Amino acid sequence: MIEMLKKIFNTNPKKPIVLKSRCSDCRDDVIIKITSTSGGFGIQGGALLGCSSSTYFIKCYDCFNVNPEIQNFNKLNHASVHYVV
Ligand SMILES: [Zn+2]
Repeated sequence: MIEMLKKIFNTNPKKPIVLKSRCSDCRDDVIIKITSTSGGFGIQGGALLGCSSSTYFIKCYDCFNVNPEIQNFNKLNHASVHYVV
């Protein structure tokens, strides 16, 4: 995931990436905006949790504050992420 983001930002570093998905815990819609910063990435709107280079989960702030761990791992087959950039 990080590699993928780096690739996208290499092409167009000024343009933020917007991801639309669902919170892995409460299933609410979450829209995350990722921007390229000098130190790495800035993430607004929710939390992006990676568990491997190609697998990641999105949580809303509320669920992330309650439990910042990845849960329901087996229930999630594919996080449906759409680029709305
Ligand atoms: Zn949530």
